[in-house]
Amino acid sequence: MGKNKYVFVTGGVTSSLGKGIIAASLAKLLQARGYRVTIQKFDPYINIDPGTLNPYEHGECFVTEDGAETDLDLGHYERFLNVNTSQANNVTTGRIYQTVINNERRGDYLGKTVQVIPHITDEIKRRMRLLGESEEYDIVITEIGGTVGDIESLPFIEAIRQMKMDVGEDDAVVIHLTLIPYLAAAGELKTKPTQHSVRFLLESGVQPDILVCRTEQPLGNDIRRKVSLFCNVKQNAVIESIDVPTIYEVPMMMYKERLDKVVLSKLKLSGKNEPELEDWKNFLFKLQHPQSEIKIALVGKYTELPDAYKSINEAMIHAGVSNECKVNFRYINSELITSENVASKLSGFAGVLVAPGFGPRGIEGKLEAIKYCREMKIPFFGICLGMQCAVIEFARNVLGYKDANSIEMEPKTKHPVISLMETQKNLANMGGTMRLGAYECKIEKGSHAAKAYGKTAISERHRHRYELNSKYEKEIETKGLKITGRNPQSGLAEIVELENHPWFVAVQFHPELKSTVLNPHPLFVKFVKAALEYSK
Ligand code: GLN
Repeated sequence: MGKNKYVFVTGGVTSSLGKGIIAASLAKLLQARGYRVTIQKFDPYINIDPGTLNPYEHGECFVTEDGAETDLDLGHYERFLNVNTSQANNVTTGRIYQTVINNERRGDYLGKTVQVIPHITDEIKRRMRLLGESEEYDIVITEIGGTVGDIESLPFIEAIRQMKMDVGEDDAVVIHLTLIPYLAAAGELKTKPTQHSVRFLLESGVQPDILVCRTEQPLGNDIRRKVSLFCNVKQNAVIESIDVPTIYEVPMMMYKERLDKVVLSKLKLSGKNEPELEDWKNFLFKLQHPQSEIKIALVGKYTELPDAYKSINEAMIHAGVSNECKVNFRYINSELITSENVASKLSGFAGVLVAPGFGPRGIEGKLEAIKYCREMKIPFFGICLGMQCAVIEFARNVLGYKDANSIEMEPKTKHPVISLMETQKNLANMGGTMRLGAYECKIEKGSHAAKAYGKTAISERHRHRYELNSKYEKEIETKGLKITGRNPQSGLAEIVELENHPWFVAVQFHPELKSTVLNPHPLFVKFVKAALEYSK
């Protein structure tokens, strides 16, 4: 295929309508028809990247292979498409301005007044085209974060207007996602908010080609006709997106609504092949027809906002399906766990996962949970901070160093079992100063990890500052907490496993970031398997 095709996805009426899932589902369908597709997310906020955002505010920070800290929607893209994303797939207003300001300081604008139009919009358009011009993809889907009507979205909408002109009508399509609320008292679906948000787009010079309407009730022809008429969109391009129990149903639902067909016809692409969705349907079938059921606990401190642990949650679903088991994955706030109540808090759980995190809050509860799993031989999976806590717990309760800690929590501890490497000690900035992205790891033969992966050379993604302190390695290992995975270059500990325990594995990296529908992560799969066995 010669020219690049662009799909833009905007959202109206309210946030949280599932733009990311719709974009990922469309990408899945196009990919299943044989097109090479990628998705990028443009976020209108001013942060350079979401790395410094509180998970309460923005959900988890998704880390790519190349070490970019990105929006959690990129996680959906990877899980649906089974294709890696990169730094180029997530751009914020902050990054756009940073580039433009750097250009200005270098004198690139030759004395011109630097303005939103054309300088900011040009930079947005340059970024919009970047992946397309790499020639790796036939179709580039660009999702614009936020809601149209927000002040900060305006330059992005303007960039879409210009892109449509630049590349031509047949090479760009705009999908607008809106809400059609159901007013129970009136017993009616209401189209007015949709009309208003489309009018806003029109005022900005953008006529959406397709409307995807999020709704709790089926739309019916009369509503579709009305939306079509008022919003100037063909009736077959009014797509219903009804609430479904799992996001993994959305691609099938969009297929039934023919979203992919409408997109292809707008882009003048033939789309002769029907999408090849057998694997996806198999996954969905198993998800909907589990053979068994267990409860697994996630112990963490960001438990009020489910999005804070998005990738772990999804990886757990993938692993459940792979074991044909429904995993009831419950979040337990580590701040509420004490030595007195840990047994009752964790009763009935067949496995415990201790989550990643930052800062001292909730640490003591995590340590109690780990101690309980270690002693009661309950399958345990520690991720990042969860691994560091496993080491701290072991140092305190098995080695007897009562004050053992990470220097993140207690900089003056006498037993800094988790510490900084010498090279890191002078860093002043919080943004972008962690060990980020893919690093190799060499695994000990015969370990749980080696059995799970089925190989001894792996690569996993990281996002952390602190490391297991090599001074304590020997003692820890002698007492039974084995280092079964190491970075081959630096020798840093990446995986620890407890001897004489059915399944106690903790990893410094983030395996959840690489779990996809087609490739569930082996450590999650084996953790669920161990939990299933424990429950019997
Ligand atoms: N706070 C820890 C560190 O920076 C762990 C980070 C994490 O769990 N992602 O090393």
